[in-house]
Amino acid sequence: MAAAALLAAGCAGTGGVPTTDVTATLPLPAPDAPGDEAHSPQADEAPPAGPLAGLTVVIDPGHNGGNADAPEEINRQVPAGPGTKSCDTVGAETAEGYPEHEFTWDLSQRVRDRLEAEGARVVLTRQDDTGVGPCVNERAEIGNDAGADAAISLHADGAPAGYRGFHVIAPGEVAGYTEDIVEPSMRLAEDVRDRFAELSGQPPAGYAGEDGIDVRTDLGGLNMSTVPKVFLEVGNMGDPTDAGHLADEAWRDRAAAGVAAGVADYLRRE
Ligand SMILES: [Zn+2]
Repeated sequence: MAAAALLAAGCAGTGGVPTTDVTATLPLPAPDAPGDEAHSPQADEAPPAGPLAGLTVVIDPGHNGGNADAPEEINRQVPAGPGTKSCDTVGAETAEGYPEHEFTWDLSQRVRDRLEAEGARVVLTRQDDTGVGPCVNERAEIGNDAGADAAISLHADGAPAGYRGFHVIAPGEVAGYTEDIVEPSMRLAEDVRDRFAELSGQPPAGYAGEDGIDVRTDLGGLNMSTVPKVFLEVGNMGDPTDAGHLADEAWRDRAAAGVAAGVADYLRRE
């Protein structure tokens, strides 16, 4: 695949760029919900003992800062379920030049800090924002090897301006691969959707999935996972409104609170 195609495709989590529909008039919390008052009691009542003690979460910050300079490495084909996929992609970026890999790295650390504060063991799939990869299958294997109770891959989309909102991607059934994770992953997807929408104020995408959840069978990061896993496409970097949110540190902190609360809700109930 040519570098230009990778850039145009934007996010690894995104199969096709939408061409129809959309006007994200959505029945969800108003954007820019007030700060602390928007937090639910559950999110703030984590006892110091650590309600998530003994549980492991793997957070996968999508893409990496060195990918753009390593096309041969990231374009090589890797196992992605029944077929193969490129190792990774460059990722999307905003019109202002804020790259997806930098966004996912920042957000992942914020989510990690929150989950660790609740007692969880958190493993990130990469340790900095300057390397190449790891490939999508390796990102899944890190979750498998960690014995993760939940895994989440964080991304932002690269669709055209005018397409707004977030969506959670859950694995569909792929024979021989995902049968064991489809059901728990959907429960994880619903918890992340609910709490992320609540605490970030971000509307569910009008261009992908339904009610904020999209089921896909083509993502290596999901197909190769043996632990409950979802992707979250936090917003669309190609849309000026979403891009403004993503680039705003205070918004990212609310977004992280939503992701962490959703994962925590799932872990507490499973
Ligand atoms: Zn991505």
